[in-house]
Amino acid sequence: MRRVLVVEDEESIRELIALNLRMAGYEVLEAGSAEKGLELLGSEGKCDAAVLDVMLPGMNGFSLCEAIRRDDAAIGIIILSAKSMEQDKIRGLSIGADDYMTKPFSVSELLARVEALCRRVSRGAVPESPVPESRMVSGRFVLDQKSRVLYKAGQPIDLTQVEFQIMELFFQNPGTALVREKILEGVWGDNYFGDVKIVDVNIRRLRMKIEDEPSKPEHILTVWGYGYRWNG
Ligand code: CA
Repeated sequence: MRRVLVVEDEESIRELIALNLRMAGYEVLEAGSAEKGLELLGSEGKCDAAVLDVMLPGMNGFSLCEAIRRDDAAIGIIILSAKSMEQDKIRGLSIGADDYMTKPFSVSELLARVEALCRRVSRGAVPESPVPESRMVSGRFVLDQKSRVLYKAGQPIDLTQVEFQIMELFFQNPGTALVREKILEGVWGDNYFGDVKIVDVNIRRLRMKIEDEPSKPEHILTVWGYGYRWNG
Protein backbone atom coordinates (compact mmCIF):
# COMPACT_ATOMS: atom_id res chain seq x y z
CA MET A 1 0.00 0.00 0.00
CA ARG A 2 1.25 3.47 -0.80
CA ARG A 3 2.09 5.55 2.20
CA VAL A 4 1.81 9.30 2.60
CA LEU A 5 3.06 11.51 5.42
CA VAL A 6 0.80 14.49 6.18
CA VAL A 7 2.27 17.23 8.37
CA GLU A 8 -0.19 19.99 9.25
CA ASP A 9 -0.84 21.57 12.64
CA GLU A 10 -4.41 22.62 11.85
CA GLU A 11 -6.27 19.52 12.87
CA SER A 12 -9.35 20.06 10.70
CA ILE A 13 -7.26 20.43 7.54
CA ARG A 14 -4.99 17.52 8.45
CA GLU A 15 -7.96 15.27 9.08
CA LEU A 16 -9.63 16.31 5.85
CA ILE A 17 -6.49 15.46 3.86
CA ALA A 18 -5.88 12.20 5.75
CA LEU A 19 -9.49 11.06 5.42
CA ASN A 20 -9.53 11.68 1.68
CA LEU A 21 -6.21 9.92 1.19
CA ARG A 22 -7.42 6.90 3.17
CA MET A 23 -10.62 6.77 1.13
CA ALA A 24 -8.44 6.74 -1.98
CA GLY A 25 -6.58 3.72 -0.61
CA TYR A 26 -3.46 5.22 0.94
CA GLU A 27 -1.92 4.48 4.29
CA VAL A 28 -1.49 7.83 6.04
CA LEU A 29 0.94 8.93 8.73
CA GLU A 30 -0.31 12.09 10.43
CA ALA A 31 1.76 14.62 12.32
CA GLY A 32 0.90 17.99 13.88
CA SER A 33 4.51 19.21 13.82
CA ALA A 34 7.68 18.79 11.77
CA GLU A 35 9.41 17.16 14.72
CA LYS A 36 6.63 14.59 15.03
CA GLY A 37 6.77 13.99 11.27
CA LEU A 38 10.49 13.21 11.38
CA GLU A 39 9.93 10.95 14.36
CA LEU A 40 7.25 9.02 12.45
CA LEU A 41 9.51 8.64 9.41
CA GLY A 42 12.21 7.34 11.72
CA SER A 43 10.00 4.80 13.45
CA GLU A 44 7.68 3.76 10.60
CA GLY A 45 10.12 3.88 7.69
CA LYS A 46 9.90 5.60 4.34
CA CYS A 47 6.85 7.07 2.68
CA ASP A 48 6.09 7.39 -1.03
CA ALA A 49 4.95 10.98 -0.68
CA ALA A 50 4.72 13.76 1.89
CA VAL A 51 2.30 16.69 2.13
CA LEU A 52 3.92 19.44 4.22
CA ASP A 53 2.36 22.62 5.53
CA VAL A 54 4.80 25.55 5.66
CA MET A 55 3.54 27.34 8.79
CA LEU A 56 4.09 24.92 11.67
CA PRO A 57 4.92 25.39 15.31
CA GLY A 58 8.66 24.81 15.86
CA MET A 59 10.49 23.72 12.74
CA ASN A 60 8.73 25.03 9.61
CA GLY A 61 7.73 23.12 6.49
CA PHE A 62 10.70 24.31 4.43
CA SER A 63 13.25 23.03 6.95
CA LEU A 64 11.28 19.81 7.24
CA CYS A 65 11.33 19.44 3.46
CA GLU A 66 15.11 19.86 3.44
CA ALA A 67 15.54 17.34 6.25
CA ILE A 68 13.37 14.74 4.52
CA ARG A 69 15.05 15.29 1.15
CA ARG A 70 18.53 14.84 2.64
CA ASP A 71 17.60 11.29 3.63
CA ASP A 72 15.39 10.34 0.75
CA ALA A 73 15.90 11.39 -2.87
CA ALA A 74 12.94 9.38 -4.09
CA ILE A 75 10.03 10.59 -1.94
CA GLY A 76 7.55 12.93 -3.64
CA ILE A 77 7.08 16.15 -1.64
CA ILE A 78 4.20 18.62 -1.92
CA ILE A 79 4.40 21.88 0.03
CA LEU A 80 1.18 23.51 1.24
CA SER A 81 1.22 27.18 2.04
CA ALA A 82 -1.25 29.87 2.99
CA LYS A 83 1.04 32.37 1.35
CA SER A 84 0.55 32.84 -2.32
CA MET A 85 3.84 34.60 -2.79
CA GLU A 86 5.84 33.50 -5.78
CA GLN A 87 8.99 33.71 -3.67
CA ASP A 88 7.69 31.01 -1.33
CA LYS A 89 6.91 28.76 -4.22
CA ILE A 90 10.35 29.13 -5.73
CA ARG A 91 11.93 28.59 -2.32
CA GLY A 92 9.91 25.42 -1.72
CA LEU A 93 10.86 23.98 -5.06
CA SER A 94 14.52 24.94 -4.82
CA ILE A 95 14.97 23.10 -1.51
CA GLY A 96 13.73 19.84 -2.91
CA ALA A 97 9.93 19.91 -3.05
CA ASP A 98 8.37 18.45 -6.19
CA ASP A 99 5.17 20.41 -6.09
CA TYR A 100 3.51 23.33 -4.39
CA MET A 101 -0.10 24.19 -3.57
CA THR A 102 -1.54 27.37 -2.11
CA LYS A 103 -4.28 27.33 0.49
CA PRO A 104 -7.19 27.20 0.15
CA PHE A 105 -6.78 24.23 -2.16
CA SER A 106 -9.11 21.68 -3.64
CA VAL A 107 -8.77 18.27 -2.01
CA SER A 108 -9.41 16.48 -5.28
CA GLU A 109 -6.60 18.43 -6.91
CA LEU A 110 -4.29 17.55 -4.01
CA LEU A 111 -5.24 13.88 -4.42
CA ALA A 112 -4.49 14.04 -8.15
CA ARG A 113 -1.06 15.48 -7.43
CA VAL A 114 -0.27 12.93 -4.71
CA GLU A 115 -1.32 10.20 -7.13
CA ALA A 116 0.96 11.62 -9.84
CA LEU A 117 3.91 11.76 -7.44
CA CYS A 118 3.33 8.22 -6.17
CA ARG A 119 3.13 6.87 -9.69
CA ARG A 120 6.56 8.31 -10.35
CA VAL A 121 8.09 7.10 -7.14
CA SER A 122 6.69 3.53 -7.28
CA ARG A 123 9.20 2.44 -4.69
CA GLY A 124 9.84 -1.27 -4.97
CA ALA A 125 6.89 -1.71 -7.30
CA VAL A 126 6.98 -3.48 -10.65
CA PRO A 127 7.55 -0.88 -13.38
CA GLU A 128 4.49 -0.21 -15.53
CA SER A 129 6.38 -0.97 -18.71
CA PRO A 130 9.63 -2.86 -19.16
CA VAL A 131 12.65 -0.60 -19.53
CA PRO A 132 14.11 -1.34 -22.98
CA GLU A 133 17.59 0.00 -22.25
CA SER A 134 18.73 0.06 -18.67
CA ARG A 135 21.77 2.24 -19.40
CA MET A 136 21.77 5.30 -21.58
CA VAL A 137 25.04 6.99 -22.43
CA SER A 138 25.53 10.59 -23.53
CA GLY A 139 29.06 11.99 -23.60
CA ARG A 140 30.56 11.69 -20.11
CA PHE A 141 27.13 10.93 -18.65
CA VAL A 142 25.50 7.57 -17.99
CA LEU A 143 21.89 7.29 -16.90
CA ASP A 144 21.22 3.96 -15.21
CA GLN A 145 17.48 3.40 -15.39
CA LYS A 146 17.58 0.28 -13.27
CA SER A 147 19.20 1.90 -10.23
CA ARG A 148 17.91 5.37 -11.26
CA VAL A 149 21.30 6.98 -10.80
CA LEU A 150 23.08 9.46 -13.05
CA TYR A 151 26.84 9.20 -13.39
CA LYS A 152 29.12 11.97 -14.57
CA ALA A 153 32.59 10.69 -15.53
CA GLY A 154 31.91 7.67 -13.33
CA GLN A 155 30.80 9.71 -10.30
CA PRO A 156 27.23 9.14 -9.09
CA ILE A 157 25.03 12.25 -8.80
CA ASP A 158 22.04 12.20 -6.45
CA LEU A 159 18.86 13.18 -8.28
CA THR A 160 15.26 13.50 -7.14
CA GLN A 161 12.70 11.47 -9.12
CA VAL A 162 11.62 14.57 -11.01
CA GLU A 163 15.20 15.49 -11.89
CA PHE A 164 15.84 11.92 -13.02
CA GLN A 165 12.81 11.99 -15.31
CA ILE A 166 13.90 15.27 -16.86
CA MET A 167 17.30 13.69 -17.55
CA GLU A 168 15.57 10.69 -19.13
CA LEU A 169 13.68 13.02 -21.42
CA PHE A 170 16.94 14.78 -22.38
CA PHE A 171 18.75 11.50 -23.03
CA GLN A 172 15.89 10.33 -25.23
CA ASN A 173 16.05 13.59 -27.20
CA PRO A 174 19.72 14.58 -27.44
CA GLY A 175 20.43 17.83 -29.26
CA THR A 176 16.72 18.55 -29.59
CA ALA A 177 15.19 21.77 -28.32
CA LEU A 178 12.43 20.73 -25.95
CA VAL A 179 9.70 23.26 -25.29
CA ARG A 180 9.03 23.75 -21.57
CA GLU A 181 5.41 22.57 -21.90
CA LYS A 182 6.64 19.30 -23.39
CA ILE A 183 9.01 18.77 -20.46
CA LEU A 184 6.17 19.54 -18.05
CA GLU A 185 3.87 17.08 -19.81
CA GLY A 186 6.55 14.41 -20.15
CA VAL A 187 7.50 14.51 -16.48
CA TRP A 188 4.39 15.62 -14.63
CA GLY A 189 1.80 14.02 -16.93
CA ASP A 190 -1.05 15.33 -19.11
CA ASN A 191 -3.40 16.13 -16.27
CA TYR A 192 -0.97 18.21 -14.29
CA PHE A 193 -2.39 21.58 -13.30
CA GLY A 194 0.81 23.40 -12.37
CA ASP A 195 2.68 25.96 -14.39
CA VAL A 196 5.86 25.74 -16.43
CA LYS A 197 7.96 27.66 -13.87
CA ILE A 198 8.35 24.37 -12.03
CA VAL A 199 10.40 23.20 -15.03
CA ASP A 200 12.77 26.17 -14.74
CA VAL A 201 13.30 25.58 -11.02
CA ASN A 202 14.14 21.93 -11.57
CA ILE A 203 16.48 22.81 -14.43
CA ARG A 204 18.27 25.32 -12.20
CA ARG A 205 18.70 22.61 -9.57
CA LEU A 206 19.91 20.09 -12.14
CA ARG A 207 22.48 22.56 -13.42
CA MET A 208 23.82 23.02 -9.88
CA LYS A 209 24.32 19.27 -9.73
CA ILE A 210 25.71 18.41 -13.14
CA GLU A 211 27.36 21.48 -14.65
CA ASP A 212 30.99 22.40 -13.88
CA GLU A 213 29.88 26.04 -13.88
CA PRO A 214 26.11 26.26 -13.34
CA SER A 215 26.03 29.89 -14.51
CA LYS A 216 27.67 28.88 -17.79
CA PRO A 217 25.92 25.61 -18.57
CA GLU A 218 27.49 23.40 -21.22
CA HIS A 219 25.08 20.49 -21.03
CA ILE A 220 21.61 21.84 -20.31
CA LEU A 221 21.37 24.73 -22.72
CA THR A 222 18.68 27.39 -22.68
CA VAL A 223 16.75 27.89 -25.91
CA TRP A 224 15.50 31.45 -25.38
CA GLY A 225 11.75 31.89 -25.30
CA TYR A 226 11.27 28.18 -25.88
CA GLY A 227 12.84 25.67 -23.54
CA TYR A 228 15.97 23.61 -23.11
CA ARG A 229 18.31 21.45 -25.13
CA TRP A 230 20.57 18.64 -23.94
CA ASN A 231 24.17 18.60 -25.07
CA GLY A 232 25.86 15.48 -23.71
CA1 CA B 1 -0.21 25.55 9.67
